[in-house]
Amino acid sequence: MSDLLPEANLRRLARTLAAITFAAFSLASGAELRVAVRPLGQVDPAVLRAAVQDLTAMYDVQVRLLPSEPMPPSAYYRPRNRYRAEKLLDSLEATTDGGYDKVLGITAQDISTSRGQWHDWGVFGLGRLSGRSCVVSTCRMGGGGASRTVLLSRLAKVVDHEFGHTLGLPHCTQRGCLMEDMRGSAAVLDACSGLLCASCQARASAFLRHDAHAPARR
Ligand SMILES: [Zn+2]
Ligand SMILES: [Zn+2]
Repeated sequence: MSDLLPEANLRRLARTLAAITFAAFSLASGAELRVAVRPLGQVDPAVLRAAVQDLTAMYDVQVRLLPSEPMPPSAYYRPRNRYRAEKLLDSLEATTDGGYDKVLGITAQDISTSRGQWHDWGVFGLGRLSGRSCVVSTCRMGGGGASRTVLLSRLAKVVDHEFGHTLGLPHCTQRGCLMEDMRGSAAVLDACSGLLCASCQARASAFLRHDAHAPARR
């Protein structure tokens, strides 16, 4: 006879603990970080407004919405008719004024990266760990007949996740944490709490308190 709790109870307990953990800490302010949001190609203005609001609310950073730039031809991957995320990051870094500490690109086009044995794996977004740039695509967020509410909820999580990578947050194994590896899966994304676990919060806060105050970073 096992003394383990039934699985449903364990799940409920895990959720309760996660809620307590996620609510117990608050992030340091990133008010000194200057962040540019750059639309790549045509992007719904409501999506852009939501991304700016998400970033501001989550990290308390200074966000500026820049004019749209066309999709860089150097990032186009013809065999799959989509864009390579790393090349988009290179382009964002090269074309964004050095006065911005971070730049977030947003596109409605499909984007991809290499993942394990897969050379070209479609993703919601990509962010450089402790780097300057990240990019988000809405292309895969509207799947399964997602409502606008669901799409904007997914957008917020991906924007905050990819930006988290630029603050030095790697993927986290805590189920439901914002920094969980989404693996390009809408199901994982929808199950994500949208909040950082305590350890990710501590890490992000350390970055926001210290690194964000270093002068002349690129
Ligand atoms: Zn990630
Ligand atoms: Zn975490």
